[in-house]
Amino acid sequence: MKSKFKSTFSVIDDSPREACGVIGIFMPNENVAKNLFFGLFALQHRGQESAGIAVSDGENIRIHSKMGLISQVFREEDLNGLTGYVGIGHTRYSTMGGSKITNAQPIIVNGARGKLAVGHNGNVINAELLRDQIIKEWEVNFERTSDTEVIAELYANTPGNNWFDVSSSVMRRLSGAYSLVIMNKKELVAVRDPLGIRPLCLGKLGNGWVVASETVALDNIGAEFVRELENGETVVINDEGIKSKNWSGRRSSHAMCIFEHVYFARPDSVINGKLTYQTRLKMGSELWKEFPVEADFVTGVPDSSTPHAIGLARESGIPYLETLIKNRYVGRTFIQPDQAIRNTDVKMKFNVLKSIVKDKKFIVVDDSIVRSTTIKRVVLLLKKAGAKEVHVRVAAPPIKSTCHFGVDMATLNELIAYNMSTDQIKNLIGADSLKYLSLDGLIKSVEGTNDSYCRGCFTGKYPIPVQLEMDKFSFEKK
Ligand code: SF4
Repeated sequence: MKSKFKSTFSVIDDSPREACGVIGIFMPNENVAKNLFFGLFALQHRGQESAGIAVSDGENIRIHSKMGLISQVFREEDLNGLTGYVGIGHTRYSTMGGSKITNAQPIIVNGARGKLAVGHNGNVINAELLRDQIIKEWEVNFERTSDTEVIAELYANTPGNNWFDVSSSVMRRLSGAYSLVIMNKKELVAVRDPLGIRPLCLGKLGNGWVVASETVALDNIGAEFVRELENGETVVINDEGIKSKNWSGRRSSHAMCIFEHVYFARPDSVINGKLTYQTRLKMGSELWKEFPVEADFVTGVPDSSTPHAIGLARESGIPYLETLIKNRYVGRTFIQPDQAIRNTDVKMKFNVLKSIVKDKKFIVVDDSIVRSTTIKRVVLLLKKAGAKEVHVRVAAPPIKSTCHFGVDMATLNELIAYNMSTDQIKNLIGADSLKYLSLDGLIKSVEGTNDSYCRGCFTGKYPIPVQLEMDKFSFEKK
């Protein structure tokens, strides 16, 4: 039986917290630090707590990482000090291990294979067990509290004749989501987990190669998109060129996170072969087909729901209108995931265009509802400004379960749809009607099949068995 919703969670910022962004570049005879920096800039939406870059000139690995946004972490002189032709970069939002400088990435470990720097996007669900095994097997002293260190130690110590052997053995042990960039002094390695939960793509830049979480990072540095990595694929780039191998034990099914399409990825990124913006237009269009309603205007919760709202407007023939203006310079400051900061955040986020709202009927499109605090505030703002009716349409099904694969959704008790029926939520947020896109409608929008995506936060059924609730601070507590 569901527990009663605890109203103690008065968080106003309602978005799921993105996972992380990774990038790796190998460019013979070039310094890669600035390209890593500008590539990371395009991935800032995936994590805003800390950032870092590691590079090697073939002899030494140098690293610079700090808490904060990319623009706060790097000064020109920091980048000038990072000389080398191979490097990786990372921007982090913590999904396992606290938000602190020791958990900033890339991390460097020293194992039987020498020094490695590692950047990780995702979440490994058996990290605790593996950590204990690694301590026994190789007497490793863990210095951090994130699952990334577990992955790094596995890659640094697992025996094997080459990267593909090592990666194959490591994949056999890891369970969960991991898109990785790994480097030693002379090589760049990219790995996507056997289910392909988080995205990772490959690009060509001059005489070198780039791997990155999203294609926008390639665009930002003028690299040419080559392809997305396959699930279970390991790519090795060194002086001899580029080689790739798929893990023989990989599952035939692909379980990419469907939420990348809904919210996480930038609208100008190509994910699973589709431009995210177009996929979001389709979600809006499906939403209208499933739940039409009479209105004067369609509007979206800025900025992330704008494409979904435009899609609904196009399908319905009802004009799209901006009604809420977002302060672009608030909400992307140094975000620490604590309640107090989230509370102040959204209060400053939107302002309403009062004179064009008065006496009109609106369809408000939101990409998703986690806790309901943002949409509640939006409905209130519109009603206060004199809107006659506010009909809320959500471009994803109700989120009823937590994520175990690299997204900080909320705890079960914070998830409004876990605790309340749609009708109860409608009343809570003060809307005249509330409808969610069906799972079938979402799958149709991304042109997928039911077994081609992870849909765990909507269905509670995950592509691999998980514990019901995961504690991101489990290593700290230990
Ligand atoms: S549970 Fe949801 S957010 Fe997490 S990977 Fe699956 S679809 Fe994505």
